[in-house]
Amino acid sequence: MIELRGIGKQFGGRALFAGLDLDLLPGKTTVIMGRSGSGKSTLLRMLNQLERHDAGTVRLGEIEIPAGLPHGEWVKRATALRRRTGMVFQGYHLFPHLCVLDNVTLAPRIVQGREREAAEARAMELLKLVGMQDAADRFPARLSGGESQRIAIARALATEPEVLLLDEPTSALDPGSTAEVVKVIGDLRDRGFTQAMVTHDPELGRRLADRVFEL
Ligand code: ADP
Ligand code: MG
Repeated sequence: MIELRGIGKQFGGRALFAGLDLDLLPGKTTVIMGRSGSGKSTLLRMLNQLERHDAGTVRLGEIEIPAGLPHGEWVKRATALRRRTGMVFQGYHLFPHLCVLDNVTLAPRIVQGREREAAEARAMELLKLVGMQDAADRFPARLSGGESQRIAIARALATEPEVLLLDEPTSALDPGSTAEVVKVIGDLRDRGFTQAMVTHDPELGRRLADRVFEL
């Protein structure tokens, strides 16, 4: 699915990664574990090219991104790759001025040009998948942390990504909210969505992983 080969990454002359290989296998949930500062977020951000690599190649299907491309060509390929992924952050990043349904339909309508009716029908299916079908007209300020993160997952899935990337999706949540979100990620794994999840919590990681990648 997404393939990293020989990846190198430096910050300020210090090597964070060198010669890193990683495959996100189709239909599998890969959990990336490591202590704080080990580069988990950077690795996830290189998988969707929010962060550029300095050496090696990132590949998704026919899109191949070797290090050192001219800027314009990198932007073109990185954008194409990113549109085939969905990202969920620790802090949800929902649009506060939009209701839940509009949060979920925004990218399909604006970026992908889907009709409102089709986008809303798909959004309602996804809200059902995350157990939030009754929240379509609520606003983010009236959602709990667990509810917000479940909406963020539905929103990330709305563009029909091939890979869902989750960066410490439960680390800002209380135990009850964590359980809600873990159930959703487990359901997606059982349905065969391709996922990569970062966590520093070994117990949670082992529970959700088909495969564990240790940094
Ligand atoms: P993790 O998610 O595992 O806690 P990160 O990927 O956030 O780790 O960071 C790994 C290391 O890279 C840290 O030492 C961090 O300070 C450094 N780092 C990350 N992003 C940048 C950046 N944009 N500029 C400089 N250093 C960075
Ligand atoms: Mg991190």
